[in-house]
Amino acid sequence: MITVMKFGGTSVGTPEALQRSAGIIMNESNSKVVVASAMSGITNFLVNGAERLPESRHDIIAEFEKKHIDVASQLLNGEQMDDFMKDFDQRMKRFRDLLEDESAAKSPYYVDNITSQGERFSTLILCHALRAAGAKAVALTSEDCGISAEGSPQSGSANLHKTESMIMMKVKPYVDEGVIPVITGFYGITDGGLPLTFGRGGSDYSAAVIANAMNADLLEIWTDVDGFMSVDPRIVPDAIKIDEMNFSEAAELAYFGAKVLHPRTIEPVRKKHIPLKVKNSFKPEEPGTIIHHLRKPRGDMLRSVALKTDLSIISIGSAEIAFHPEMVANIIEKIAENEVVIYSISTSLSTVAFLVHNNDVKSILAKLNTLGSGDIERIEVKGDLALVCAVGDNLLSKCGVSAEIFTAVKEASANVEMISEGASDVSLNFVVPMSRATDVVKILHNKYVGGGTDEGL
Ligand code: ASP
Ligand code: MG
Repeated sequence: MITVMKFGGTSVGTPEALQRSAGIIMNESNSKVVVASAMSGITNFLVNGAERLPESRHDIIAEFEKKHIDVASQLLNGEQMDDFMKDFDQRMKRFRDLLEDESAAKSPYYVDNITSQGERFSTLILCHALRAAGAKAVALTSEDCGISAEGSPQSGSANLHKTESMIMMKVKPYVDEGVIPVITGFYGITDGGLPLTFGRGGSDYSAAVIANAMNADLLEIWTDVDGFMSVDPRIVPDAIKIDEMNFSEAAELAYFGAKVLHPRTIEPVRKKHIPLKVKNSFKPEEPGTIIHHLRKPRGDMLRSVALKTDLSIISIGSAEIAFHPEMVANIIEKIAENEVVIYSISTSLSTVAFLVHNNDVKSILAKLNTLGSGDIERIEVKGDLALVCAVGDNLLSKCGVSAEIFTAVKEASANVEMISEGASDVSLNFVVPMSRATDVVKILHNKYVGGGTDEGL
């Protein structure tokens, strides 16, 4: 049995947290593969640092080095520290060389290379902490493991197929010998050999990719919260922790609201039916949330209600657009050039409407202006909207669900600006004005999650 265990930034962010995480790893009786994020704050530090190059390179190196040595020296004794410093100096030399190398700065993946440095050092400290605790462990970078990545800078995707054959060759033999590989999260390597990151928070995704490649029996994401919640506790204080849900529900929730998991974490494990547990490394005795492929009948209608705020609808009007799908294609192609996220699309005879983040509106309008004016008759933007995402298993096959949900929306006196139902059978998403959104969420949660009442509003 193999468990892939991923530790987030706060779980490796201080000597105490590292010690606790090392203990959790030592307690796991299955064979294990460990994946870690950078120590908390380090990736932000590197993102800011990358903007101050080349002038600040000495300061960046000095501060980065000090932060990691401080933490390691609180965990390791004299001899262990000497061992650690040998590996540390090698990796630091590579980092220093990178910042001095003017040709590297011209690579489109330069920022990826810099921002992925944090993981190379957090994993080194964790590996040495495990050795200090008596385990056999080896620190491996994504380069060492052959985690294959493709796509645009700072938003890569893993090539699961290529990664699997490399991991079998480079990582599996360690596991077979009882050695714990401690692997860098957050990035993979392009075919040209350059680091490419998977987007902020991407170490969860790395761990899922590694679990997929290893054919693991379980993926554990160790973080600093107890698991997925039925609603944001800042909106509804008596939110309940979700003990169990299926992959589709978790994917929708991770995508639309809850910040517990990187939204792309589900797919690599779902493909191989590998269950995923979200656990709190600060409270390891808590059961967390388990996510798997089983669909069990349940009493309550909704599992969770998520909210995504600060959205806008851009409506594009053009006569009989419905009869000109090529026009819709052109519009989407233009919007896609900016790599923005489109949260929902809806069409009518003469309008196509897109739901996007407020921050993306300006650049989308600029793109749309480059389309032939004959195609578009008018563009309207409505801002300050929020998307409510009601998540529950098999919503579509239950009769009357939408009627119930929209009755609750009416109770909150909210006008529905856009609806997306049917695209997934585990979620019903709709857009309301920001000013009404939290009331809608409260009412829906109280009525339909966990069998509560709508008192207390
Ligand atoms: N360290 C990276 C970040 O902060 C990746 C991660 O945390 O998963 O975005
Ligand atoms: Mg992080």
